[in-house]
Amino acid sequence: MRARLIDGKAFAAGLVERVAAAAARLEAAHGIKPGLAVVIVGEDPASQIYVRNKGETTARAGMRSDTHRLAETTTQAELLALIAQLNADAGIHGILVQLPLPIHIDSAAVLGAIDPDKDVDGFHVVNAGRLAVGLPGLVPCTPLGSVMLLKEALSELSGLNAVIVGRSNIVGKPMAQLLLAENCTVTVAHSRSRDLPALCRAADILVAAAGRPEMIRGDWIKPGATVIDVGINRVPSADPVKAAEGKTRVVGDVALAEAVEMAGAITPVPGGVGPMTIACLLANTYTAACRAAGVEPETLAG
Ligand code: NAD
Repeated sequence: MRARLIDGKAFAAGLVERVAAAAARLEAAHGIKPGLAVVIVGEDPASQIYVRNKGETTARAGMRSDTHRLAETTTQAELLALIAQLNADAGIHGILVQLPLPIHIDSAAVLGAIDPDKDVDGFHVVNAGRLAVGLPGLVPCTPLGSVMLLKEALSELSGLNAVIVGRSNIVGKPMAQLLLAENCTVTVAHSRSRDLPALCRAADILVAAAGRPEMIRGDWIKPGATVIDVGINRVPSADPVKAAEGKTRVVGDVALAEAVEMAGAITPVPGGVGPMTIACLLANTYTAACRAAGVEPETLAG
């Protein structure tokens, strides 16, 4: 079998277009332009790139995009004061604090200070609780995008065995909640799980979110399974000369070349789940703006 590659890049581009169109209709009908504020503290180069991409994509979608760049020396009190100001700003519907924060700042205290209705990352405990009990809230972007890709690949998820490798608060656990809501039978595996290959072989849907480069081998995959590879791992270039020069490449948690021989469909890395994260951030900002205005959000999933 040769798996179909699930094109997350194309799906994400379509989602951004749908969000942009829905946001334009919201503005035309109700005079509300969805606004996203991104806060970054310090100079971490990777975070700078993420923040720039988020800002540019938000603006391209016709939404208000504010970026607050704070010095590494910013105190927790100063950061909390900015969050309070953004919470009170009626033109801002989404607030995202780029992680990691400098070590002198308590990340949990900062994330907990964001108004849950503006928490477009979906990390606030109120949103985690809403997801767990099936109330409308804001869902973490990477699992949200992963489920959209799964629904595109499989028309019906109900009754399927889903195995998630990884139990983090930002990927594994919300993914488990979303797949339960789709009536999957969900297993969450983690670093202490026994016989991970056997657990994975039982999966109709396998979600890899362990942050371990190419850990999941082809013979761990049930023939025809749908595989969502969330992992983003930077490893030395496959070319030894380039590797010696320090060149790197990005791989997922799944050994893609082996997995395509077993799976029915699989997200590649790069170009699978990754592009969905920013697209879902915009979708969450649009949703938050609609709710703030008491307007029913349009369906965006595609
Ligand atoms: P994390 O480190 O917080 O959690 C990793 C989880 O994997 C843990 O629950 C751990 O128990 C489990 N794990 C680790 N080693 C394991 C092993 N050998 N066997 C079984 N389970 C194991 O990571 P995270 O933040 O959830 O991210 C996971 C991966 O997803 C990373 O590669 C990260 O870069 C990537 N990621 C991608 C996006 C995206 O936009 N596509 C977003 C977030 C995270």
